[in-house]
Amino acid sequence: CGIVAYVGQRQAAEIIIKGLKRLEYRGYDSTGIALLNKGLNVYKKKGKVAELESFLKDKNLNSTIGMGHTRWATHGEPNDENAHPHYSATKKLAIIHNGIIENYGSLKQELIRKGHVFESETDTEVFIHFIEDIKENEKCSLDEAVRLALTKVVGAYAIVVMSLEDPNLLIAARKGSPLVIGVGKDEFFMASDATPIIEYTNEVIYLNDQEIAIINNGKLTVKNTANLPLTPYVQTVDLEL
Ligand code: GLU
Repeated sequence: CGIVAYVGQRQAAEIIIKGLKRLEYRGYDSTGIALLNKGLNVYKKKGKVAELESFLKDKNLNSTIGMGHTRWATHGEPNDENAHPHYSATKKLAIIHNGIIENYGSLKQELIRKGHVFESETDTEVFIHFIEDIKENEKCSLDEAVRLALTKVVGAYAIVVMSLEDPNLLIAARKGSPLVIGVGKDEFFMASDATPIIEYTNEVIYLNDQEIAIINNGKLTVKNTANLPLTPYVQTVDLEL
């Protein structure tokens, strides 16, 4: 239901938790965060952001890249396993997702036939397994695997994907669910709306449907699912908190 992600020089966890609180008005049943330090670490809990915060108290949160999610369950009851982020099969990739993947059932059957094991009942976990399966089969980059996956899924989504193998990479895409990118100085923010972003920067890009944003080593590129490169339109917002 709500998405916040960050990559830059600051501590990502603080920005993400604060951002998730700003998105609380959207309603949710569980929350979670993924950070990169000595591994791709996912922490998630049923309940409020405050419960995630106390769960994080004794964890190593030192990471300048990360993403967080508030979930409004559509597939699978609200519990810790079904909360986002979700891992891929190798646990080298993680995803957060707003929306619904309508054809997840047939994709899941196909992946189970190939030996995939799922930890949750969500459509979202199928989505990230599917992306990794394409990446391995096509031997392509992660952004290309995301693009190919998006041409095959039916439904609505705003997603952010992180990779253990690429500590400076965030990939986001949307169709039918909002996604805003904040452009700071040597840092980028992503969120479901501008409220978690505007205390850091007022330069934003509203991603359009069928667009994919790739932030790699401090550089943003945008393309669409047909693989056409796009010039992002940076707007200055003047919102008051
Ligand atoms: N369909 C996903 C789930 O049930 C995402 C729900 C959401 O938008 O929060 O986990």
